[in-house]
Amino acid sequence: MITDTHAHLYYPELLQNLDEILYRAEDKGIEKIIVPAVDLETSRQIISLSEKHDMIYCALGVHPCDAAKNDLNSIDEIEKLLSHEKAVAVGETGLDYYWDISSKDKQLEFFRLQIELAKAYELPVIIHTRNSVDDAVRIIRENYSEKLKGQFHCFSGTKDQLSEVLNFESFYVSFCGNITYKNYSDIEIILDCPAERMLTETDSPFLPPVPFRGKKNEPSYIVHTIEKICMIKKTDYISFLDTINSNVHRIFSKL
Ligand SMILES: [Zn+2]
Repeated sequence: MITDTHAHLYYPELLQNLDEILYRAEDKGIEKIIVPAVDLETSRQIISLSEKHDMIYCALGVHPCDAAKNDLNSIDEIEKLLSHEKAVAVGETGLDYYWDISSKDKQLEFFRLQIELAKAYELPVIIHTRNSVDDAVRIIRENYSEKLKGQFHCFSGTKDQLSEVLNFESFYVSFCGNITYKNYSDIEIILDCPAERMLTETDSPFLPPVPFRGKKNEPSYIVHTIEKICMIKKTDYISFLDTINSNVHRIFSKL
């Protein structure tokens, strides 16, 4: 059984075909899909999707690129939703210094607030980074507690940054479909990341793996990314998924 830990199924191009997308996912062995919010509105939308579809679970929070158009009231309202039975994580939060849509100060403030929520509700935090792994690691270190669990999703840091992340014992790393692209040059990062610290994700509708490059990504395509990881790590597909499943249950205890 596979868990897609990161799929934005509320994007209109996915939402309009949701039934077929979930059917294809199930057909490929995907049992559960975590849908991460980017703001208050999508947090509410995901809660209602999760109430209609057994497979769908929620990560609730404000994305760093959306911090600019959200205020502290959004965080308060999101907090009220975290006790929902299908809310399994806080996020996605983090820092994005590439698009630079929200000011650094606001991104940092929202990141810290969401780490506080994760600790208070004993939920893992889902972290987006772009050109910002060092700052994200620093913020985690400053706010670290034994109870804090987290996922660096769509990891694109260096070997050194990976080892910093792996120093946080209850933190996990996941990779997207771009690892199947010809120009992907970070094979060593995947080799350096033990399966025991990995999760699986698609980041749908973004970053579809080969052979679906150029299309809208969807959870069923996850098998191509997993196959590529197994090929790189010279690991057997079934035993790799066994390891990932134990990881999923350790980090997402409400799943
Ligand atoms: Zn995302």
